[in-house]
Amino acid sequence: MTQMMKAAVVREFGQPLTFDELPVPEPGPNEVLVRIMASGVCHTDLHAAHGDWPVKPTPPFVPGHEGAGVVARVGPGVTHLEEGDAVGIAWLHDACGRCEYCTTGWETLCESQHMSGYTVNGSFAEYAIGHADYVARLPDNVDFASIAPILCAGITTYKGLKETEARPGEWVAISGVGGLGHVAIQYAKAMGLHVAALDVTAEKLTLARDLGADVAIDASDAHAVEHVIDTTEGGAHGVLVTAVSVPAFNQALQLVRRKGTISLNGLPPGEFQTPIFDVVLKRLTIRGSIVGTRKDLEEAIAFAAEGKVRPRIHETSLDRINEVFSDLEAGTVDGRMVIRM
Ligand code: NAD
Ligand code: ZN
Ligand code: ZN
Repeated sequence: MTQMMKAAVVREFGQPLTFDELPVPEPGPNEVLVRIMASGVCHTDLHAAHGDWPVKPTPPFVPGHEGAGVVARVGPGVTHLEEGDAVGIAWLHDACGRCEYCTTGWETLCESQHMSGYTVNGSFAEYAIGHADYVARLPDNVDFASIAPILCAGITTYKGLKETEARPGEWVAISGVGGLGHVAIQYAKAMGLHVAALDVTAEKLTLARDLGADVAIDASDAHAVEHVIDTTEGGAHGVLVTAVSVPAFNQALQLVRRKGTISLNGLPPGEFQTPIFDVVLKRLTIRGSIVGTRKDLEEAIAFAAEGKVRPRIHETSLDRINEVFSDLEAGTVDGRMVIRM
């Protein structure tokens, strides 16, 4: 008899997710079946469910890419993982391993990659398939709900901060103090950076200060830019944008110091203006940053394992996913919502 599992499914873009009984998938060669214990809810899952981006997933699909759990079964050919191992399912489900990106430590740019919860079913289910060479190894006795947000929010902002090239003792401005931004602040402090955090609600600014931001500034205040420039004595060396807001991208260009780098994580659908004169004369670098490699993930998990980064989580259940999506859209989530299976 086929074993069944509960899953939250996107059947149509923009419609509430449905709760279905699906067959527990079979791990194929080099795959593992993961029993999901906890899954964080990333704003990307909402973009996926809305079909927000130019490259869309194909419904029906199961979102979720912050899935922490244990190996329930191993597929043929898997030798380095066994039943009971604690693992994490992240955005990068797998990549080809052979292209110029894969062979140079940029597997996140592989054109043949699969993405969890987007092109393959993800972690909003009792079980999900991971690729044995791409699942994260989690520490023994890990708290699954607390580690889950590291699998996307953690790795993405840790990598995004590295991509700002800001050095210890320098300033980084972090725009957006949501699921990503609130862990970004902690990584930045642990990396020896000074942090100016920006968001648009008093609650998020309080959270930013609680987590160690040197200053927390209302991005919608008319003097926000001036405030950052004054505090940082000339602008931040690096700017990390995690905000789901196009105006935040425009603002980022004003927060940065000459020769600085703006690293973009947020993915609101749309376009932003880049003032050519400023970019050229100030020798600015603007770059996108997409999740992180397996090595970045290992490092990001180590910060959490050592207690240097602690996601602010609120536990919920799978059947509340549509309410969580509404809260994310309204910008009222404090830290990260995590589904406990
Ligand atoms: P979230 O909803 O938890 O947080 C977004 C935050 O942006 C909220 O706190 C909101 O108040 C804030 N915000 C809104 N307008 C703002 C403004 N004008 N200035 C400053 N802050 C503002 O979302 P999240 O899960 O943190 O994800 C953030 C974005 O990052 C999403 O677009 C998501 O798809 C994207 N993302 C990208 C990657 C990547 O690899 N590049 C990985 C994960 C998520
Ligand atoms: Zn994500
Ligand atoms: Zn490749």
